[in-house]
Amino acid sequence: MFNITAEDGGARTGILSTAHGELRTPFFMPVATKATVKTLTPDDLKSCDVQVLISNSLHLFLRPGLEVLEAHGGLHRFMRFNGAIFTDSGGFQMIRKGFFVGADRDGITFRSPYDGKKYKFTPEFSKEVQMRIGSDVAMMLDYCAEYPASYDEAKKSVYFTTLWAERFPKNTEQLSFGIVQGSVYEDLREKSAKDLANMDFDGYGIGGLSIGEPKEVMHRMVEIVTGILPEDKPRYLMGVGSPLDIIESVMRGVDIFDSVFPTRNGRHGTAITSRGMLNLRKAEFKNDESPLDEDCSCYTCENFTRSYLHHLIREKEILGMHLLSLHNVCFMIEFMKRIRKEIEQGNLEKFKKEMEKIY
Ligand SMILES: [Zn+2]
Repeated sequence: MFNITAEDGGARTGILSTAHGELRTPFFMPVATKATVKTLTPDDLKSCDVQVLISNSLHLFLRPGLEVLEAHGGLHRFMRFNGAIFTDSGGFQMIRKGFFVGADRDGITFRSPYDGKKYKFTPEFSKEVQMRIGSDVAMMLDYCAEYPASYDEAKKSVYFTTLWAERFPKNTEQLSFGIVQGSVYEDLREKSAKDLANMDFDGYGIGGLSIGEPKEVMHRMVEIVTGILPEDKPRYLMGVGSPLDIIESVMRGVDIFDSVFPTRNGRHGTAITSRGMLNLRKAEFKNDESPLDEDCSCYTCENFTRSYLHHLIREKEILGMHLLSLHNVCFMIEFMKRIRKEIEQGNLEKFKKEMEKIY
């Protein structure tokens, strides 16, 4: 169930109902590929008001395996997270080294990097795996083309994705999202969106973007797709998570985002703050006793100086990676709250101009 609650130009706020909570859109999901948001405990996530995250069903299928998850009563209990969980299908791992063997009209064959065993993921099997994991939202098995992709390769990705979308099971226990492909070709994005729009998915992912194409091209593709997808279903731009990209996409009608942006940057010593990106490694922070971000009330900002964080990052201490990841995730959650507020007040355009000066 998805209800739109306010609109501002192409942007909208809404509520997506899941088995683990009512999620206010637009929202951002931290990434928990292997059943953990790297370095953060469930209490950390709670302290930042994280209500939803995304994991990866292919990774979980290979390790720890479905038997282990089922013995715990599913992924929520396994990782002790009570919020909503999305799972990706593994389609994206087609373009990542180490997993992909081949694809045909029936599905994708993956190889386990752990023991070399091969597994065929059909649309039906992908759904079964995600049901057994117990996530709230299952992403369909899609055929993701690399960037750059030839027109023929992109056409094939749309053709297979549509075939698999028709076969991907939809039921009431778990929401099912379709995924639009088509690389950077306008007519293929259009075709893919049209093919899927008529199938009764609970929401729609926009896949195969943010993988190296220019930003303007990504925004253009998003615009084409959101112009075709049904308005009463949530749209999820997969793998996009920098503040400016989020605003640009929200203005084009996107409701959901996920990215390793806050956690990866945190582990590498970079903080996302209300004044822009800060690289804590820099010598200028050695004696800086101010908090990381004056406008943030997370545990990191309430307790520690930039000088201390600089020291931890320089020494490669795990606590430094933890504290920065925590702040960055909290920042993204607060940022999305702000976006929702600006949409409700009809001020998103003005907010975007402010952000453009900072980032
Ligand atoms: Zn903070």
